[in-house]
Amino acid sequence: MVSLKAAVVREKSGPFRIERVALEGPRDDEVLVEVVATGICHTDLVVRDQYYPVPLPAVLGHEGAGIVRKVGSRVTKVSPGDHVVMTFASCGECHNCQKGLNGYCNDLYGLNFSGRRNDGSTPYCDEQGHSISGCFFNQSSFGELAIASPHNLVKVPQDVPLEILGPLGCGIQTGAGAVINALKPGAGSSIAVFGSGSVGLAAVMAARLVGCTTIIAVDMNQVRLDLALELGATHAINAKEQEPVEAIKALTAGEGVQYSLECTALPKVLRQAVESLRQTGVCGLIGAAALGTEVLLDMNSILFGRTLRGIIEGDSVPDIFIPQLIELWRQGSFPFDRLISFYPFEAINQAVEDSEQGKVLKAVVRLKDCGGGMQ
Ligand SMILES: [Zn+2]
Ligand SMILES: [Zn+2]
Repeated sequence: MVSLKAAVVREKSGPFRIERVALEGPRDDEVLVEVVATGICHTDLVVRDQYYPVPLPAVLGHEGAGIVRKVGSRVTKVSPGDHVVMTFASCGECHNCQKGLNGYCNDLYGLNFSGRRNDGSTPYCDEQGHSISGCFFNQSSFGELAIASPHNLVKVPQDVPLEILGPLGCGIQTGAGAVINALKPGAGSSIAVFGSGSVGLAAVMAARLVGCTTIIAVDMNQVRLDLALELGATHAINAKEQEPVEAIKALTAGEGVQYSLECTALPKVLRQAVESLRQTGVCGLIGAAALGTEVLLDMNSILFGRTLRGIIEGDSVPDIFIPQLIELWRQGSFPFDRLISFYPFEAINQAVEDSEQGKVLKAVVRLKDCGGGMQ
């Protein structure tokens, strides 16, 4: 057992409390990672609010980046000292995993949201010996140390600052991959991105990269829209001032866009994203709403050849896609670090509050310089 500081959520919608906890592992097939920094993602907050019932108390966090400190006896993929990004877990063996569609793994929920290992155990307990859910996205990165497995670890180059890389494991690959891997718009095509948070802005940057020539950002926050224009959007629509579907039609000679992306999890916005498509256009749904959320659509908006599809983790095969995104960042064409604001671990609740109020796009909490580490 090692002792470390971790942020524990004890009750629904409650605060992240920094507590000293004990961690067991790594087991034969596991890896112990010293977390250098971790992003805060929307999914951490909806799980804190129990949209998905991960048993509380729990250590959340799923955009961790760090350094491998110990590997189990059966692990060959990484070695102590390697720099890694932790991403979502998938079984690697089911039909979809074998086809490279790991985000649609048959066991995605169990591996990422059960709060337990496959055998029902959790690596964490508190100082009184009570167990705490861990294994969130097979990492629980809101702590100084995390247990992960080779299948959700992506080795990254040592000359890239680790502290910016965690969000590649979820939010950034989700937005960029939705464009590059899932929708695959061709050069010269048109796309509308609804929601200019970190996921939507990653999608805007990716749309620019693949050569979309009409890139329309839609949001109600003008500061974010201005940033979208800097990062590659050709047009910005403030939904407080303009009806987005009409505005998109006006920008596309009345036809609508070939592609749209819904990054807000709001049913009304999903409807707008579908209705802003031209005939045969494709809308990707990324926003994660509470289980049971329904959406109203005119059936005829789909009938004329339009497609609506869900996209998980940007259809990413993380071992391939994350190094590609790092190389694009290195070449200056995917400046995702511009979305990041850093916080010390002690300020995690401030980071959460600023994220929820839209004051920051991607909060990243640094753990390495807070006096913790291996004991
Ligand atoms: Zn699978
Ligand atoms: Zn996430």
